[in-house]
Amino acid sequence: MKRFLSFLLGLCLIATGFAAAESTNTFKPGTYDVVVTAHNGPMTVHVTFDETKLTAIEIGENQESGYIGDQVFERISAEVIECQSLNVDSIAGATVTSAALKWALSDAVKAAGGNPSKMNAPASPDTTEYKDEVTQVVVVGSGAAGLAATLQANELGLDVILIEQLGLLGGSSVRAGYMVGGDSSVQKAQGIDYSAEDWSNFMQRRDAIHPGLWQEESARAMALKAGENITWLDEMGVEFGPVNLGWQHYGPGGARVGPFAIRAMHDQLDQRKIDYRLYTRATEIIMDDGVAVGIKVVSPNKQEYSIYANAVILATGGYFANQEMVEKYDPEHAMFLTDVCIGADGSGMLMAEKIGAVLDYMGESNYHGLATVWGGGSRSLTLPAGNGCIAVNAEGKRYVNEAGPYELLTKGTMEQDEAFCIMDQTLMDLDVIKADTGLSNIVEMYEVADTVEELAQKLGIDPAGLKATIEKYGQDVRDGKDTEFGKDPQFMRGDFSTPPYYGVKSTVENHTNHGGIVVDIENKVLDANGGIIKGLYAIGECSASHIQGFYTYQDCIHNGRVVAQVIAEELK
Ligand SMILES: Cc1cc2nc3c(=O)[nH]c(=O)nc-3n(C[C@H](O)[C@H](O)[C@H](O)COP(=O)(O)OP(=O)(O)OC[C@H]3O[C@@H](n4cnc5c(N)ncnc54)[C@H](O)[C@@H]3O)c2cc1C
Repeated sequence: MKRFLSFLLGLCLIATGFAAAESTNTFKPGTYDVVVTAHNGPMTVHVTFDETKLTAIEIGENQESGYIGDQVFERISAEVIECQSLNVDSIAGATVTSAALKWALSDAVKAAGGNPSKMNAPASPDTTEYKDEVTQVVVVGSGAAGLAATLQANELGLDVILIEQLGLLGGSSVRAGYMVGGDSSVQKAQGIDYSAEDWSNFMQRRDAIHPGLWQEESARAMALKAGENITWLDEMGVEFGPVNLGWQHYGPGGARVGPFAIRAMHDQLDQRKIDYRLYTRATEIIMDDGVAVGIKVVSPNKQEYSIYANAVILATGGYFANQEMVEKYDPEHAMFLTDVCIGADGSGMLMAEKIGAVLDYMGESNYHGLATVWGGGSRSLTLPAGNGCIAVNAEGKRYVNEAGPYELLTKGTMEQDEAFCIMDQTLMDLDVIKADTGLSNIVEMYEVADTVEELAQKLGIDPAGLKATIEKYGQDVRDGKDTEFGKDPQFMRGDFSTPPYYGVKSTVENHTNHGGIVVDIENKVLDANGGIIKGLYAIGECSASHIQGFYTYQDCIHNGRVVAQVIAEELK
């Protein structure tokens, strides 16, 4: 029998444990508004009390990332109210937002005349007994790749268990900006005439930049299916907004699509009663006579057990959250922060290597050539870069095509003593930037000024140099031709004639890995002799199949679907 585990089970256990620990606080009844600083800026929380209990929590204005924030708000609020305790676990993968919410609740308790230390009862220990499982497919990792594989396998009638080491689904995929493709249902509904063939041609022109990794056949196969994959997600309930530039599929109002995609896929797991297990970490691939037959895991309460399966799919993401691996494989970029989730720790790659798989192209990665550090984290400035900001050095001179290959922007930024991202109000008001409240549109990150010279002074840039650059670039925008670096005019979306001006000191961030576990075109893992390791598959960022350069989200969805189809065929 399948076991359906979700965070609600944890909540019930905790609630039982708290039943005896009634609050002895007394409160002045009413609703109290508290503002705290969360991951992306100020967050308002409205907390309601009656005489003896905290009865309601409502999250007001905030800039936390959609799905991640919602998971924290829903789950922690429910636990706190159910248990009348602030001593509930933070959600791994969203610890800052979790801590901020608990901080706000503690402040509200004080404001209502209560004492937070009287709401400190710990949860009872989780005594769930885990036993070995047998299934057809086990998927390790719940990013876009793992979720697509799980849902496609389920649609094909396969029994599947999905495991995730963090406390929420979505990995780094929940942060993604947009998906790419042509001929999708979303484009058609918006009357956009952009075919799969158009997309395939554009992608190859733009991304044939990793000659070693580039696999013409699979790149083209993926490109031609990209729109169909978006249609699949659309039909599953992913909310899409206006398509940017004809081919970039964002979320509603130009918001990052990642949270909407993960939300919809999460709902599908629930609706279809698929067995997914949070806080469950894979530690070892179980081999039998050269065949992968399952995976050893550690449960939320730290018990070891095994999940045996006909097919083991690794969808564990990249390695940029593992500093030791970054230093080993990519020392040149070891000094930079990363925007990936903490679960992207390379563990899937290391597990595979241990049983004879090959890791290759490990030093080949994608970096964001414009990012800044704010609020303790790295904040990507890719959307400004891809929509019309200019990147300048301390002399106020542009040094690169900001919307060209990430590699060139990264190299350019690394060559400057200091680098800055500059925008005007027109760019700041573009839907895709305005809606990016978690990253590029945190206004507090920027210096703001009414004139270019004033902005330059605030940032320590040569004012005359910046003014001359902006005048020249503005004219280029109006003429539809970047005379200096040949930027594609579709990415020049403002002529810098609308104050105020925004600027922020910028650096590089480590973004996605191209290298990883070597697989064939069907995502079967290969050994050092090029032979197939039976029963083992790798998809998404943990595999060395990043044929498409920038557009890894599509690769994850595509290969997630493909691998499920391959396995279904083999298990017939
Ligand atoms: C901020 C940001 C913005 C991006 N924007 C775009 C974009 O606009 N367009 C685009 O195409 N791409 C974008 N990307 C890249 C793309 O989103 C990622 O490459 C892709 O989502 C990776 O998906 P994945 O499923 O391979 O891995 P992930 O989404 O990282 O998921 C891997 C999961 O596996 C789990 N895991 C790892 N090891 C284990 C283990 N041992 N046991 C159990 N679970 C484990 C992790 O905790 C994680 O949840 C962006 C990436 C980031 C970080």
